[in-house]
Amino acid sequence: MGRASFARWMRAETESRPLRRAAFLDRDGVLVEILRDAELGVLYTAFHPDQLRPTPGAADQVRRLRALGYDCIVVTNQPGPAKGHFPLAQLDRMNARMHQLFSLDAIYSCPHHPEGGPGGDPALVMKCDCRKPAPGMLLRAARERGIDLSRSVMIGDSLDDVRSGRAAGARTILLNGGRCELCPNRGAAQVAPDATVASLTEAVDVIARGLE
Ligand SMILES: [Mg+2]
Ligand SMILES: [Zn+2]
Repeated sequence: MGRASFARWMRAETESRPLRRAAFLDRDGVLVEILRDAELGVLYTAFHPDQLRPTPGAADQVRRLRALGYDCIVVTNQPGPAKGHFPLAQLDRMNARMHQLFSLDAIYSCPHHPEGGPGGDPALVMKCDCRKPAPGMLLRAARERGIDLSRSVMIGDSLDDVRSGRAAGARTILLNGGRCELCPNRGAAQVAPDATVASLTEAVDVIARGLE
């Protein structure tokens, strides 16, 4: 093959398989606030669409990621339906609200839980392969949406987000210095994110400077 035809072949080869890059975003503590019950002093995550409150600048940062060429995909553990905290249909309503609040390409949520809870949907009580730290949601998104995981990044506020991103072969950024108030951040020493930052804005700054 001559040089010119090789160049043409290379171009066609590249164009026929356009692999996208994605920013995988955790929901609670990254895009929306973790909530605090003032009376009881306990922390909880939104279980109703009206409770979804964007963290400062989050919608802008999602737009910025898109401008940088990243598909923005939420990957979120939502065991509420398996634990009996809210029905599966409510998760759909929350996801619809997330699409209104943020310019997202897709949302993948894991509604399962290995132990479940009183009133939980028994069909969702299982040890699944999508609940983070497993990489199932990222792998599925990559398969369904033609994403190159090695050029993608997982942004989360828990070590399980980092574990999930690494297991999928993506870069990882840990927010809030890993001090996710709701997350059992055990075994921090074994998990090394590519960057640790204080906010989503800083995470996108790191990506804009070039994480590769
Ligand atoms: Mg989180
Ligand atoms: Zn799952």
